[in-house]
Amino acid sequence: MTERKSNCCEMMEIFTTFNCDLHKDKYECPDTLIDHNTESDDYSIIIHDGGTSGIEINFCPWCGTKL
Ligand SMILES: [Zn+2]
Ligand SMILES: [Zn+2]
Repeated sequence: MTERKSNCCEMMEIFTTFNCDLHKDKYECPDTLIDHNTESDDYSIIIHDGGTSGIEINFCPWCGTKL
């Protein structure tokens, strides 16, 4: 196993890695909960209302680590 800079926990790793065959955009995929903006390093919870809105979060909802 190689060590690399990653997300705080396995859950965050899973949910910030968009990997869906059915949807081209993570905002269209109901299985995708978290958006990680790699430019600003902001995390947000995606609101699936048909748009691209999300609620910015400062702490991981699973392990509580400050993001
Ligand atoms: Zn976490
Ligand atoms: Zn999907």
